[in-house]
Amino acid sequence: MDALWGFAAKIPESGPGAADARTFTIILNAVRQNLLVDAPLGEGENELAHRRERGVVEGRRIWEDVVGRWRNADLIVEEELVCAMGRLLLVGSRPRDWDDVLSLVEQTMDIPRLVPRLGSIEREALPRIRAPNTLPEFKPENEDEDSKRGGEFLALTVDGKKSRPLTYATPSNETLSMVLEACQKIVAPKAAEEYWEMLTDPGTYAIVPDNNNLHQRLRLLRQNRASTAVVRMLQDKSFANKLHLKPGTFRIAMSTCVRDKNNHNSLKNATQILQLMMDTLPDADPKTIQKYAELAVDFPLAKGEDLVEALTYLQPVANSIKVQLNVGTEKTYRGRSSADIKPLSEEARQDAVAALRKIYAVFDKLILSNLISEEQKAPFKAERARMSALINRLAFRASVKRVSLKSGPSASEEAQGETDDSAKVEVATEERREKLGFSRPSNNWRTHHNHPASPLTRSPPKSLTMGNDGGSIPKRRELVKEAARAPTAAQIKEARAESQDHAWNHCPLSSKPLAAPVVSDSLGTLYNKDSVLEFLLAEEGSAEKVEGEKVLAGRVKGLKDVVEVKFEVDVEAEGEKDKASGAGRREKWVCPVTRVEMGPGAKAVYVVPCGHAFAGSVVREVEEKICVQCNEAYAENDVIPILPTVPADIARLTLRARTLKEKGLTHALKKAPGSKKRKKTADASSADAKASTSEEDKKSAAKPEKKERQADNGIKNASTAYLTKRVLEEQEERNKRRKLGQNDNVKSLFSKGNQKADLANSKDYMTRGFSIGGK
Ligand SMILES: [Zn+2]
Repeated sequence: MDALWGFAAKIPESGPGAADARTFTIILNAVRQNLLVDAPLGEGENELAHRRERGVVEGRRIWEDVVGRWRNADLIVEEELVCAMGRLLLVGSRPRDWDDVLSLVEQTMDIPRLVPRLGSIEREALPRIRAPNTLPEFKPENEDEDSKRGGEFLALTVDGKKSRPLTYATPSNETLSMVLEACQKIVAPKAAEEYWEMLTDPGTYAIVPDNNNLHQRLRLLRQNRASTAVVRMLQDKSFANKLHLKPGTFRIAMSTCVRDKNNHNSLKNATQILQLMMDTLPDADPKTIQKYAELAVDFPLAKGEDLVEALTYLQPVANSIKVQLNVGTEKTYRGRSSADIKPLSEEARQDAVAALRKIYAVFDKLILSNLISEEQKAPFKAERARMSALINRLAFRASVKRVSLKSGPSASEEAQGETDDSAKVEVATEERREKLGFSRPSNNWRTHHNHPASPLTRSPPKSLTMGNDGGSIPKRRELVKEAARAPTAAQIKEARAESQDHAWNHCPLSSKPLAAPVVSDSLGTLYNKDSVLEFLLAEEGSAEKVEGEKVLAGRVKGLKDVVEVKFEVDVEAEGEKDKASGAGRREKWVCPVTRVEMGPGAKAVYVVPCGHAFAGSVVREVEEKICVQCNEAYAENDVIPILPTVPADIARLTLRARTLKEKGLTHALKKAPGSKKRKKTADASSADAKASTSEEDKKSAAKPEKKERQADNGIKNASTAYLTKRVLEEQEERNKRRKLGQNDNVKSLFSKGNQKADLANSKDYMTRGFSIGGK
């Protein structure tokens, strides 16, 4: 800076080598730059304001010099020079500096001031500038005589009459932006509008507004909470069409509506802006959408139909975001596919995910409100569930990516995206879990039957989701045997592999090898169907019932809580498996599409309601959600990982079970019978009641029987069919009792607690899913 002053001092007053407009432009810009950028370390607000004050005083002195030369026709004032001075004034510490921008423009461009000068008598009539961030000594009302600015920006006069200099500078877009900014700073929205009209009038200055002008104008409107004017502005075809509107334009416009939220039209205006954005930009802008969704949630005057309308408009918007993120079933949006969009940066990705979460919050607001009837809520609940599944998956992907970045070489995870082989993903997550101590030894029911030597076999679903349920209470002799043995990482790994292997081969209820028909509960655990039936029929309080309850932890109360998993059996490999794994399962299960064996280590899934099992990658690749085996449609959220090990999967299944329960559905997507917890009486199995079976029960009874005929094992199926019949009879009996109101007392005891729990669940429904998945 000093060097510049040294140089400036040597410039001759006139003649060749005298300072021209360019030189002064450079000097003024340098002064401003110095104020903005070169802040001394640890400078406080106060010091900054005073430093800026000194810089502006310096600039004003230079301007006196400029005007002197201009008056003598030694210098031509151009827009560039005017704007260099004007922008310096705009960083000044006093409202007077900002106000003088309009004087400067009048002086050099002959554009009359549209607001009376600060300090003039006419100005007294107007509201005072509040300037909340201005230091007290810089406020106009506190200015003493000494610090009052001179007339360096007053129009040139000769003997009190306005004299025309040789030339005036011609305003263009830069001047327009500068004038608008000055108006904003001195809170003169009406003047801003008049300046805009005047400068863009084709008959006078004919400035064609550019993006900066538009943004500046929109900021003024935002300051004034004029959301309706913003919409009019953006819809003005006379210039908006000529501009290449940017995402930033819509962000400013949308934040105006947020600021204007007490206006009953603001949400409608916001919706129009959203529509304009979707019509204008190739891809939806996540930040704008976030603001829109925020407004929809916070809008104090929201009615049911407002939210319904907002969600209707947000639907295509969400699709565009999904395409940008390359997730979900929609592969294109308005002809744009993920391939057309360059991969999002990490920041942009987070913005996009945040936008989806905000949209989710709008669903939540509608569903938790009493603005619309329960029946009307149904489709929104379904959509919210889909949304939640998607967000969970995104969170999971992000967590996998974080882990893979942290733990070294496989940074290519993101590129592989959703279609990559899950094995890699699982490895990464396993490592993560180890780090977080997920796999601390927890003895479980599986170990004491067949693997007594294993200290740490565990059931991942339970340890994660059920916490201290009965299932993970170790047997005394195990405690004694394994007390004080700290496992090594290798042991943990080995134990986990062993546990997975065991779970893929044995029914946890009976410890017998798995054999068709096999069923699965809501957490993807596999059981022999006849063991489940035996459990359901077992007498309350019997050892079998108590042990079974520990295993099932309340997940299976009836046949509707399990789905029969239909594995493709590799017939050629029959017997081969027998020799290989000894006492385990006899059938070799393969994916019907890839023919790859399904078992521990390879991610496998089945779909509800049909129960067909596939390799995980197959289902992910199928675009329309229709079972490849039987053409039955399924929802994305009804793809159940078999014996999942990834925390995000387990979290999703828990969430799904909870959501279904809220809707009164079971894991098999059937209507949950009656109250949520049923008290079973000891003599319930007595067959005195020959109740007529309801339509639904008839269906569910017919289904398994049909399937069992298809299978080969005749003896087993005969007994299974018999047991099925008995369970159904018993359920019917219970239903009848309930209808008669015999257990009303019990019901009222339980239902109150349940309702409360449900409410809490739905409230932190999202965060819960995340805290597990994001660990
Ligand atoms: Zn199927």
